[in-house]
Amino acid sequence: MATLEAPVRPRSGLHSGPFTTEPFFDFRNEENARRMRSAIAKVRSQLAREYDLIIGGKRVKTPDKIKSLNPAKPSEIVGIHQKAGKDQVEPAMNAALKAFESWSRTSVEERASLLFRLGDLLRQRKMEFMAWLVFEVSKNWAEADADISETLDFCEFYAREALRLAKTQTPIQLPGERDSLLYIPLGVGAVIPPWNFPCAIMAGMTLASIVSGNTVILKPSSDSPTIAAKFVELLEEVGMPEGVVNFCPGAGASFGDAVVAHPKTRYVAFTGSREVGLHINKTAAHQAPGQIWIKRTILEMGGKDAIIVDADADIDAAVEGVAQAAFGFQGQKCSACSRAIIDERIYDKLLEQLKARVEKIKVGDPAENAPMAAVINEGAMKTILGYIESGKKDGRLITGGERIAELGEGYFIQPTVIADIQPKSRLEQEEIFGPVLVVIKARGFDHALQIANDTEFGLTGAVYTNSRDKIDRAIAEFHVGNLYINRKCTGAMVGAHPFGGFNMSGTDSKSGGPDYLYLFTQAKSVGEKLV
Ligand code: NAD
Repeated sequence: MATLEAPVRPRSGLHSGPFTTEPFFDFRNEENARRMRSAIAKVRSQLAREYDLIIGGKRVKTPDKIKSLNPAKPSEIVGIHQKAGKDQVEPAMNAALKAFESWSRTSVEERASLLFRLGDLLRQRKMEFMAWLVFEVSKNWAEADADISETLDFCEFYAREALRLAKTQTPIQLPGERDSLLYIPLGVGAVIPPWNFPCAIMAGMTLASIVSGNTVILKPSSDSPTIAAKFVELLEEVGMPEGVVNFCPGAGASFGDAVVAHPKTRYVAFTGSREVGLHINKTAAHQAPGQIWIKRTILEMGGKDAIIVDADADIDAAVEGVAQAAFGFQGQKCSACSRAIIDERIYDKLLEQLKARVEKIKVGDPAENAPMAAVINEGAMKTILGYIESGKKDGRLITGGERIAELGEGYFIQPTVIADIQPKSRLEQEEIFGPVLVVIKARGFDHALQIANDTEFGLTGAVYTNSRDKIDRAIAEFHVGNLYINRKCTGAMVGAHPFGGFNMSGTDSKSGGPDYLYLFTQAKSVGEKLV
């Protein structure tokens, strides 16, 4: 049904000229809204289909299955997937190793061209991919747009980066020599993404891998395997050779663990929780019998991100930034604002405005484009509600605090603000990963910075202030991988805001930045004597 697909919007400079990020849809435009509703209807008619593992280009079935459910209506199955287990580890590894022999020798131009073609096709089907995210992880239209737009940016950006890296020259050419530096692929990578940016992060780590000449065992999150299946189908459609990406949904603790531990796994690209990231780091550090390299780990993990609001800040702008960063996609972004640290001189005023702003946020069906939708699954909902109950004891509930039962079986939770939370307390330190914002009172800017830095994480942060001096201090002293000034702490854009955190937030890999592909390559220096 071609009419349901977004037309290819001509973009100047695509594949050449300066890189620009993918434009978002304006859904106030009725034609865009109509097309999105059509895409949702089309995807609705495709729910509950069965998908196979893809190993070496072959479809594989397993006795065990993974059912991906719609968080807004869990009785609705989005996709049924095979569940890779220990028996699939060797076939997947063998397929990836075999494909590596030829893919690693394929020219960088050809590998980059695969990404360009992928982006061109995805752009035509953008709304359809967005609709899958509406059903599979409960993203509203704008959040789904941001996820697929970022995927498109990764196609374009990493393809260009690979071409750039291939032209690297050594700073010095010794007389009588030809000196060169070649960024060659590593080998087989285990790519293990989370469910919260189930297309962009999954695709980003996969595309960075393959454009650099590696081959991949891709194990998507069990909460979001369908969008990954669609992505791999698209890669096949644009001509990806067999075995370059092997699609293997499976349990993290069995299949994922076994792939990480495998002696032929050369590197692991992981994004997810602190606990799992640390476990992978430990497993990967162990030298398995027959393993001849130190496994590289690219680990991006959780956050406890803070927005500081200084006494002289523009309060309206700060309230808007905090509300958007705390409750966009139900607070389930690693970059989400989960702590608002407010100067005591404006604390009461800001809380009053924040309460009014948050109470305007409507929660409902993402297919109808509700501003806030359901949290990912029942386990997450229970954990979040548990944190809220603790918060009601440890602090002052300003708004929210309950599951929304009227919305039926879906995992809907009210946007929740809890004030008067003490620094160092559990709610102030632990990642909740849901629509829960804690508010902390600071005695002044020094105290605010001290509270902000006093967690084991260091992913994103923002400061609202009108003081140049305080901006400079934040730049020097606020210890996070992604700092924003007078704007919200979510919404990193490829190319402009390379993304990755400090401390227990990860290895600071800076996806979407000029250093990212180095992580997927190793540099070989060649000094050739000229005769
Ligand atoms: P998670 O750690 O539960 O799972 C992530 C992936 O790891 C999944 O594919 C899962 O199946 C797999 N896994 C689980 N156990 C494993 C094991 N023993 N061995 C190998 N793989 C295993 O995280 P999640 O719930 O999917 O995602 C949410 C988390 O991700 C949050 O903590 C969030 O902050 C973080 N996150 C971080 C970033 C970032 O860039 N820093 C971005 C997005 C999400």
